[in-house]
This record gives sequence, structure tokens and C-alpha cells, in this order.
Amino acid sequence: MKNIAMTVSLAFLLLILGACLGNRSWDEKPFSDLEGFPVNHQQVLKHLRTANETAKEAVESNHPPFGAMLLAPDGETVLMKQGNVSLMDHAETVITRQAFVKYDPDYLWKCTLVTTVEPCAMCAGNIYWANIGNVVYGVEEIRVKELTSADKRNPTMKLSCRTVFAAGQKPIRVVGPVPELEDELLAPHRAYWK
Ligand SMILES: [Zn+2]
Repeated sequence: MKNIAMTVSLAFLLLILGACLGNRSWDEKPFSDLEGFPVNHQQVLKHLRTANETAKEAVESNHPPFGAMLLAPDGETVLMKQGNVSLMDHAETVITRQAFVKYDPDYLWKCTLVTTVEPCAMCAGNIYWANIGNVVYGVEEIRVKELTSADKRNPTMKLSCRTVFAAGQKPIRVVGPVPELEDELLAPHRAYWK
């Protein structure tokens, strides 16, 4: 009888644990396809590679190699592209502020911001306030911090964008990092931060 009670208790605990894990939909890590996320795995790879081209173009203008894009709700159409502009005008911040002026917040909630490197606290804040509901990033901020160190051109922070979003009031969904593209996305950084 005691064994039956213990088995039932254990099954109940496992049920609760399973329910909790099943509700992590907007905070998945490492990379995985989230249910209902507007961009599938193949599109994630394709869009990150395109954003990386924008990042490389930024270097040609003597800016750090960061690139971002805004995708329409279909997960395919590229609405905007942006490279890094300056120490304050990060690619994600610039694109987010322009998108806020151009598009309705309800529309932006269904859009996806794609960025080569995890958004910093400033950019994550802009994404939150602009009401962009989905984010894809390729490389974790901490990986770039290892390369930039305390370089005055980019004194990289160490603060997960998920931590910033979790402090807010809306379930912004994040996909990233994408380990299979890490070398590709870090290559322009390895060349730039010397
Ligand atoms: Zn930033």
C-alpha cells in the first residue's frame, strides 16, 4: 500500500515537472524550433547568413561587424536590414527604432528581429519597447566579449537578452544561439577585434 502511495506521488511530481517544462516555449536554450515560431530552422540559417553579409558590409565603412534584419510575419520577407552605425547606434537599436516609426505595434509583435550577435541590454530594451515579438540571434554576447574584452570601441556587456526580456511584461520569444553557425558569424569579429 505504501509503495502504491509513493508511486502515485512520484507520478504526480513527474506530471507537474512535465507541465512546467512544457511551458518554457519562449525561453528555449540551446537552439531549437519553437512551436509556432514564425521562422523555421532552415530560414534561421539563411537569414543569419544574410545578416552576416550586412555585418561584413559595416566593416567596409569602418564599423564593427554587427548586422540585423527585420522579417515580416511570414518569416521570409525581409522588411529592413541594418549594420552597426556607432558605439550607441547598434544595428538592432537603429532598425528597431525605425521599425517603430514605420509599423503598427500589433504588426511588429508578429515580426522577427534577426541579429548576428545576441542583443545587448540596450538593444533588447529597444526590442521590448518597440513590441517586436520574436528574436533570432546567432552568437551569444559572451562569445563576442571574449574577443572584444574591454575594447573602447565595444565594451561588451555580459547580460543575456532573455534576462532582460524576462524582466518585462510580455513573452518575447528567443531562438539562439545557433552553434552550427558560430564559426561563420565570429569570423568577421576575429578579424576586426585585434
Ligand atoms: Zn546593442
